[in-house]
Amino acid sequence: MSNNTFDDFDEEYSFKSDSGSDNHSPVDCVKQIKSFARLTETNTDEWVACDFEKTATKDEQGRIQYQFTGKDTEGYTDITPFFDNIDERRKDRIIAEHIHNKKLGDKTKAWGSCQYCGHGFVYVFKIKHDEKKLIMTIGSHCVKRFTKVDDVSLILKKDEEKTLRNAITRWRVPTVRSIWEKPDHIKENYLAKDGSLKPILYDKYYRYQQLLSKVNNGEIPVKEIKEIFRKAKKLNLDIPFDVDELITRKPKSNRKFSY
Ligand SMILES: [Zn+2]
Repeated sequence: MSNNTFDDFDEEYSFKSDSGSDNHSPVDCVKQIKSFARLTETNTDEWVACDFEKTATKDEQGRIQYQFTGKDTEGYTDITPFFDNIDERRKDRIIAEHIHNKKLGDKTKAWGSCQYCGHGFVYVFKIKHDEKKLIMTIGSHCVKRFTKVDDVSLILKKDEEKTLRNAITRWRVPTVRSIWEKPDHIKENYLAKDGSLKPILYDKYYRYQQLLSKVNNGEIPVKEIKEIFRKAKKLNLDIPFDVDELITRKPKSNRKFSY
């Protein structure tokens, strides 16, 4: 069961009456939302976010965009419960307006309709129902109404953590070994009691391999993993390509979705 409540419906969601024919008033939005379970035979808590490319691209206005891959939803059916719930003529008029607004690049007006609440949007979010193989487009304003759909920043954060933890797990032990093997890292060799030559590392490499040896892959905070890889770069040690990209990535100014 969904635990959405409608009495907290925010006035800010109401669409300006001069900006299109989508659901203008919160009252219309609530009506649409209340029909959702009946129209789709699903509950909001059964939907999850569709996969998207984690590296954003910029459009011609310098706005950051994320693209949905579509790889996780092959063979899924796109459903439009809002459009199905209004008469054909209104639907056609709305779509025509969206095409017009998009063509003008006017971001103060709607470019699409949230299929959950019927509200107009510019930034879109795609969600999927895996059991029924459904896909649906909603406005980013409605993401929080689907309890299992994380917003973009949370998805990116979880994804980043996964990348870093996988990387440190694979990379740590072979790197410690390689630190001891590279001639550049060795200050001198000494004759051990067993008669073999043993290396003495330069201090910075000795300290770094000690640090790496102590890491607990599952427990170490994400921030510290990043720090470990940054130090590795400073010491000219090879780090995984995806991590390199991640730790040198510029801060994001805008994490909204759009087409
Ligand atoms: Zn919505």
